[in-house]
Amino acid sequence: MENTRKVTCIALDFDETLAFIDSSREEFFGTWEKRGVPKEIGEKAYKEIHDGEGFSYTGMKKALKNYGYDMDESFEKELWARLEKGLRPFKEAKETIERWMNKCPVVVITAGDDSFQKEKIQRTGFSHLPLIITKFRKKAEAIQTLLKKYGAPIVFIDDKISELTSIKEADFSKKDVILILLDRAGKNKKSEFEAISSLDDSKLTKILGF
Ligand SMILES: [Mg+2]
Repeated sequence: MENTRKVTCIALDFDETLAFIDSSREEFFGTWEKRGVPKEIGEKAYKEIHDGEGFSYTGMKKALKNYGYDMDESFEKELWARLEKGLRPFKEAKETIERWMNKCPVVVITAGDDSFQKEKIQRTGFSHLPLIITKFRKKAEAIQTLLKKYGAPIVFIDDKISELTSIKEADFSKKDVILILLDRAGKNKKSEFEAISSLDDSKLTKILGF
């Protein structure tokens, strides 16, 4: 898919796209499981908060309380310590963003809890980028805002197929919004979206024209 029109804006997701927490899901979910929360309850509470108001440690604590599981004082501390230790940008992210910024605006569109997302973005050194925070699977509205502001075509990059699908369902012209799946692990070879393996993947360079 080669693009002949000049891209007016690059928008991209934050978690697992620009930065990640280097720690396993087992360790993460273990934070509440080792405090007596059954696996299914933990997963339910996590999904509720993630798909609803947006994930945060305080939100998770509240969600667990609604199921009758009171987390102790050290609960959030432990989660923050894990973040402190493991949160980092992907190695090519900063340089690539700097390169793009010489060509067009670069905007972060992230789903989640406002202050939690901002905190992570600040800690990883991306707070100089314009930021739009949405709810889970509600990024289409943000894309619309960018189209109005910058014109078409814009490129949007996300590591989650579900987020790309929700934008696709909003029915933008394929020529106006170019949806790219960031598939670092190469697990989604058969998805309907153009996939790249890193932000500096030459396939993307070709689509962008820079
Ligand atoms: Mg993501």
